[in-house]
Amino acid sequence: MHSLSFDIEDWFHMVEIEAVADPAKWDTWPSIVVKRTRWIIDLVGEYGHKATFFMLGWVAERYPEIAKAAHAAGHEVGTHSYWHRKVYDLSPEEFRADMKRSIDVLSDQIGGPVRGFRAPSFSITPGTEWAFDVMLDLGLTYDASLFPAPRGHGGYPCVQGAHDVTTPSGRVMPELPMSIQRYGPAPIPFSGGGYMRFLPRFMIERGFRQFERKNVPVVIYLHPRDFEVDCPRVPMPLKRRFKCYTGMKTTEGKLRHLLSTRKFATCAEVLEREGFPPLHRRGGAG
Ligand SMILES: [Zn+2]
Repeated sequence: MHSLSFDIEDWFHMVEIEAVADPAKWDTWPSIVVKRTRWIIDLVGEYGHKATFFMLGWVAERYPEIAKAAHAAGHEVGTHSYWHRKVYDLSPEEFRADMKRSIDVLSDQIGGPVRGFRAPSFSITPGTEWAFDVMLDLGLTYDASLFPAPRGHGGYPCVQGAHDVTTPSGRVMPELPMSIQRYGPAPIPFSGGGYMRFLPRFMIERGFRQFERKNVPVVIYLHPRDFEVDCPRVPMPLKRRFKCYTGMKTTEGKLRHLLSTRKFATCAEVLEREGFPPLHRRGGAG
């Protein structure tokens, strides 16, 4: 049983790209998020799996129908923050205010608690562990933000698979980190975003088999724009452009293959199966 997750944001929610950095402009651009998220819900439903939709509060506030549709279809709704700002760029107080706004919007829409968080661009890095305490204070019961390999805007050395993180205040937060395969000494991400788009199928399959041999669930993470072949193109440096737009035509086929050959569940359910009871564990004032 693997974990299937989608970070629900629009095509312009990219970090550190000057042309799309100003939130005042976001409302002036055509949106893909409603149509493409509904398509994702239908696609996952076709195979009978359940997924976690980590939603941006900014998106949920404008398009309340998405969280409601995901929730009604039996999926989990988690938070991806409100403004999509990197955690390590914020103070604990700024992070708390952003997260509270997002959790309030989402829990109101689904009529129940929001349990999990995925940081924008996996931006919990060594030194920002205070974020776990803020999450526990706000009633969240697990995190799915750690990326155990070097990357442009994040990266956090940790073990693969579900584990407990001890927070600076001494509390415990269940963590479901992203999946990184080993290719000799090289760490190779394979299960989401740009990596799933541009890696050939055999490398993705190789990653899944490596995890399955060790009985560790893989975490798939994708965005609506990963499937959007006609997505508006944003001016950016060549290397970033490759990472943002390469292989979009291949995402659907690769995902369909995985959905038809394996079993997938929400992040909360995978954590529970691994012995981490996020539904029952409550930290801090939550
Ligand atoms: Zn994001």
